[in-house]
Amino acid sequence: MTERTEAALLEAARTGDRAALEVLLERYQARIYRFGLRLCGDRSDAEDVVQETMLAMAKELSSFRGDASLSTWIYSIARSYCARRRRKKPLESDLGALDADAPEVQDPSPNAERIAEDRELEVALEEAIARLPGADREVLVLRDVEGLTAPEVAKVVGLSVDAVKSRLHRARLKVRARLAPLLEIPNPGPLPSCPDVLSLFSRHVEGEISAQVCAEMEHHLAGCPRCEGACSSLKRTLSLCAASPVPQVPPEVQARIRSAVRRLS
Ligand SMILES: [Zn+2]
Repeated sequence: MTERTEAALLEAARTGDRAALEVLLERYQARIYRFGLRLCGDRSDAEDVVQETMLAMAKELSSFRGDASLSTWIYSIARSYCARRRRKKPLESDLGALDADAPEVQDPSPNAERIAEDRELEVALEEAIARLPGADREVLVLRDVEGLTAPEVAKVVGLSVDAVKSRLHRARLKVRARLAPLLEIPNPGPLPSCPDVLSLFSRHVEGEISAQVCAEMEHHLAGCPRCEGACSSLKRTLSLCAASPVPQVPPEVQARIRSAVRRLS
């Protein structure tokens, strides 16, 4: 079977094509599971969130109007299930749950050290994200881990695009600061007289700064190793977010989703 576009799958699924529906569910379930893990910080909550979200998607797809993108709609559903869980136990923070399945690295091959370092960064990134305040965390996860655009994130979380961007910039700088010691980028930090290159760079990523401001920033970076180091660590942080591994949804959870969806008709 040739790869079908999301639009074609969506159209087919809405008119009752079960196979198309199952392909769509499979495409989204691991990303929704990752989103649930980052947002709830708890594995069993994330399992519940992915099941509830996939079931809601299967039930309500026929009423999905397509005025938002499919991913915006699905993340909105998942977010509401996460929020319900957070309200049930607002004080519980379970950072340890995130790396419970961390692979034991015992391989003595030359790659082992590299793998261990990558894993250390991955865990540090998860923890840095988990420590963000909830509202900043969901914005950063949706934009930088899940790859939605800022206007899509605004739709999911019900804020203006400007409010999303200001949370995003704040969250990125906090996560970068927590990862910086591990990134091995010499970074004594900008001087008080330096421009705020970290905020400028984050805004540049969102297309918020003019070509002239951008050129001035480039000029400063070229002559200031401190700011260049700080900017490199932010770039690295963002690429680590974008490369966050997509976890496998536990097979028993996948089976529960499939059988719940099959019972729907
Ligand atoms: Zn500087």
